[in-house]
Amino acid sequence: MAIKAVSPKTIEEAAQILRDGGLVGMPTETVYGLAANALNGEAVAKVFEAKGRPAINPLIVHVYSIDEAAKYVELNDFARAAAHKFWPGPLTMILPKVQGCKVSDLASAGLDTLAVRVPAHKVALSLLKGAAVPLAAPSANKSGSLSPTSPAHVHDSLGGKVDMILAAGASSVGLESTVLDLSGEEPVVLRPGGVTAEDLSEVLGVEVRYADGDADKPKSPGLLLKHYAPNTKVRLNAVDVDEGEALLAFGSLKFMGLKQGGFAKDLPEGRLCNLSDRGDLHEAAANLFAMLKELDKSNAKAIAVMSIPDEGIGRAINDRLRRAAES
Ligand code: AMP
Ligand code: MG
Repeated sequence: MAIKAVSPKTIEEAAQILRDGGLVGMPTETVYGLAANALNGEAVAKVFEAKGRPAINPLIVHVYSIDEAAKYVELNDFARAAAHKFWPGPLTMILPKVQGCKVSDLASAGLDTLAVRVPAHKVALSLLKGAAVPLAAPSANKSGSLSPTSPAHVHDSLGGKVDMILAAGASSVGLESTVLDLSGEEPVVLRPGGVTAEDLSEVLGVEVRYADGDADKPKSPGLLLKHYAPNTKVRLNAVDVDEGEALLAFGSLKFMGLKQGGFAKDLPEGRLCNLSDRGDLHEAAANLFAMLKELDKSNAKAIAVMSIPDEGIGRAINDRLRRAAES
């Protein structure tokens, strides 16, 4: 396996690997994806195998344009409106497959709906055009663990299992896409992300709600699973730091103390990360997974996490943190 810096030549090499049924670590604006030709069942099977992902959990299929998406899914009026506004971008839509849809059934876990997205990353778009096939691409990490936001994360998690990693720096959004289900009676956000239900309501002209815990869970198989978890225990809404804990901070540390006395700002090297010292939620989202990984290495007894406002992309951050805290 090779990590290769992006160039027209390495993109063409990666496109060839994909056409030949191989796996490529692909940069996107959300997180790094593990890409495979979505039309090739054997290639898609390699994705499930490499990630240790349960076969009931369908993958997102990436395409480079709305017209490409229309080859595989029925774009209803809501889908067209949302696509015009948010594609390319961190919005995945679940839609009915077109008749005779050529995407491997394994990618959609046998469902008659398919998750599709157009990523807003130059390299991902060039790769999609170069490969000239839709790419099934879940996050490039072992199933259940934290998503990768850098080429090094992909290498650490899946190194031996991908044919090439295309390195293009850190992912700018840092959280997985919003998943919007448009296959039912009413639009529902199954997974919160950078595009919020409020953003979607405005564009669709109807109220878009977030999936409601148990009632909606079975709709998105992936939501049934413990996910995005570091090895270290995670303690949410911390107002101070216990002995032996590391701190994942957000905003000012002025009032953050240590239970045994002293200030959180004086925690030893490696035990403190601040998602955004100026309290910016987008910066926090972009840092979340890398900082959780870093603190996970600190041998702390737990990672205490300061509370994060539950608004805008903060809602998606809190969703990932709750899953990380699930034991
Ligand atoms: P990932 O590929 O890891 O970013 O996860 C994709 C998410 O979308 C998972 O939670 C999947 O369960 C969900 N998903 C993908 N396809 C479908 C579908 N056809 N119906 C419902 N949820 C889906
Ligand atoms: Mg994932």
